[in-house]
Amino acid sequence: MSSNGNTKHVKLLVLGSGPTGYSAALYAARAELQPVVLTGMQLGGQAALTYTIENYPGFPDGVGGAQLGELFQKQAEHFGAVTEFASANAVDLSQRPFRVESDSGDYLADSLIVGTGASPNHLDIPGEMELTGRGVSYCATCDGWFFKDKKVVVVGGGDSALEEGLFITRYASSVTVIHRRNEFRASPILQHRAKEHPKVNFILDTVVTDVIGNNKLEAVKLKNVKTGEETIYETDGLFIFIGHTPNTEMFKGQLDMNDLGYININEKMETNVRGVFAAGEAADPHFRQVVTSAGMGAAAAIQATRFLEAESG
Ligand code: NAP
Repeated sequence: MSSNGNTKHVKLLVLGSGPTGYSAALYAARAELQPVVLTGMQLGGQAALTYTIENYPGFPDGVGGAQLGELFQKQAEHFGAVTEFASANAVDLSQRPFRVESDSGDYLADSLIVGTGASPNHLDIPGEMELTGRGVSYCATCDGWFFKDKKVVVVGGGDSALEEGLFITRYASSVTVIHRRNEFRASPILQHRAKEHPKVNFILDTVVTDVIGNNKLEAVKLKNVKTGEETIYETDGLFIFIGHTPNTEMFKGQLDMNDLGYININEKMETNVRGVFAAGEAADPHFRQVVTSAGMGAAAAIQATRFLEAESG
């Protein structure tokens, strides 16, 4: 790692500004650790890209994802957390204080909480990359508006696919959900809503194999996985919601993780490196909810506080 000569020493550095990061920062700030939050590329994390969050307790009528993110930030800053609009680029966890290289300079941190979350998976098929932003999207809240009165295809069978697909019905003339099986892993309430919606229809046991278009999406090539039949399906939009990959590449070789890249932690959010904690979707392949990520962030901060107290004797 190189140093840019602008090194700041902090007691606790939090990587990530989603529910995990700001919940950790809130608890750490109230423990007077003056935590610094490096926001990463997306302030508020994935939750901020969600139009409405209906299952975060305390908001019986739902709350906008971006609005909830702002509330998390405001509450943490109220108690002294500091936000730096920067991404961590490299870490050296071989000795304490840990060194973190970021867009806004280098940090030496007595303890670290990794709340870097996860990013949407790609289909990795021909045409997908070339037509991203030209009809192909991974974010309904960001791009749904562009598809007013247009035909849209959504890929996936989980909560994201159905929730985001339902959101796109606000704009699109039709939303066709394409799923590789004939059973959904999405929650029953979302399946029910999608099946009842007049604009939503389904193509099951089918995968998208090609994204077709000259400078702009025109169609997708579909393959029925049971019959092998291939068809061309004309569409204006292709929204892909097929799960996530944790943003943990930077920690490979330093933090223990599983085969999918989720950081291994114990029940105290401790990683294999003393003083480094991980929480939220970077470490959680099971629950991946705003409320569970926020809970894990709080737990990580409580444990980091205990760690720093024990270290200072
Ligand atoms: P997910 O639950 O992992 O679902 C991914 C979907 O994509 C699955 O249906 C999967 O098919 C399909 N898929 C995966 N790879 C594929 C490929 N290469 N080609 C075609 N299809 C593919 O992911 P998610 O929907 O993003 O949800 C992630 C987590 O967030 C879940 O725990 C979910 O409950 C949570 N979440 C909750 C809410 C909510 O509570 N309102 C909203 C959004 C997300 P198979 O089913 O065949 O594996």
